[in-house]
Amino acid sequence: MIRFEHVTKRYPDGTTAVEDLSFEVAEGELVALVGPSGCGKTTTMKMVNRLIDPTSGRVLVNGEDIAGADPVALRRRIGYVIQQVGLFPHRTVLENTATVPQLVGTPKAAARARAAELLELVGLDPSVHGSRYPHQLSGGQRQRVGVARALAADPPVLLMDEPFGAVDPVVRERLQNEFLTLQKTVRKTILLVTHDLEEAIRLGDRIAVYGAGTIEQFARPAALLSAPATPYVASFVGADRGLKRLAVTAVTEADLEPAGDLAPGVSVELGASLREALAALLQEDSGRIAVTDPDTGTPAGVLTPQGVHRALRRAELQEA
Ligand code: ADP
Ligand code: MG
Repeated sequence: MIRFEHVTKRYPDGTTAVEDLSFEVAEGELVALVGPSGCGKTTTMKMVNRLIDPTSGRVLVNGEDIAGADPVALRRRIGYVIQQVGLFPHRTVLENTATVPQLVGTPKAAARARAAELLELVGLDPSVHGSRYPHQLSGGQRQRVGVARALAADPPVLLMDEPFGAVDPVVRERLQNEFLTLQKTVRKTILLVTHDLEEAIRLGDRIAVYGAGTIEQFARPAALLSAPATPYVASFVGADRGLKRLAVTAVTEADLEPAGDLAPGVSVELGASLREALAALLQEDSGRIAVTDPDTGTPAGVLTPQGVHRALRRAELQEA
C-alpha cells in the first residue's frame, strides 16, 4: 500500500535526513517508525503526503508513484495526525471533526452526523464535548479529536506523528489501547512515528528501528526483541528486552499444566499476554493461576512461573 524504493532526502543545507530507504507497509497494517530524535522519522512520513519530496528514489501509494500526484488530491486520501493536533481554535469540536468531509462537499448535516459518530468512536460524548472549543478540552481529549478528525475523511491511509506524545503516561496507555481497538474495526494502513519503543511494541504490526537516516531492522515486535539484528538495535531495545517480550507473547495451551482441583481465584484467558498473566501470578499466593478458554468459558489449565518461562523460550525459538 505504501512503498519506499531507495529513497534519499537531502535538505538544501546539505543535511542527509534519510538515505537509501526501502520498505513497504501492507494494506491494513500498522508500521511504527521508532528511533531517537533527528534520525529521519518525520522526514520519512512527510514524503508520503508530499509535504516533502525525495531527492532520489520513489514513493508509491497504492501502486502509484506519487511524484506525479496532485498533492491536494493525495492528502485527501491520506489522514494526518500530529502531536500538536492543529485544531481550529475558533471552531467547536464537532465543526473541527466535520472539516474535511464538508470541504469535499458532504452536505453539512451528513458531515456533522458522521463527525458525531467518530467522536463517539474515539470515546468522546458528542452531546457533551461536541459544542466545546479546543481550549476547553484536556490534552488527551484534544488528541482524540485529532484522531477523529483524521478518520472523518475515511482515508485508506493514516500518517500519525507522535500522536500520543503530548499526554501523560497513564492517559497515553489508555489512548493507545483504545486506538488498537479502533484499528481492529477500521483497518487503516498506518505509518506511525514515535520515539517510544514501548509504544511501537504495543501498536506496531511491524517496527522499523531507525539509526541515523537508515533502517537498522524491520521486523515484527517479537522478532525484534528476540533477535536484534545489530548491536545498535540490541542497545536500543535494551538489556531488559526479555521483560518487554512479555507484552508481545501470548499464553498458549502448550504452556499450561492440567487444571486439576485448582480453587477458583485470579484467572486470565488463553491468548492473554504473558505480561498480563505474570501480573496476575504475582498477586496469587499459590504461584498458580487458572487459564480459561474464551471460546468455551471452561478452564484450559494452570499457569505457573515455569510456564511463563517455557512460553518465552518457545516464542524465542519460533522467532529464531
Ligand atoms: P525525527 O523526526 O526522527 O526527529 P527529522 O526527520 O525531523 O527527524 O529530521 C532528520 C534530520 O533532518 C535531522 O538532522 C534534522 O535536523 C534535519 N532536518 C529536518 N528538517 C530539516 C530542514 N527543513 N532543513 C534542514 N534539515 C532538516
Ligand atoms: Mg519527528
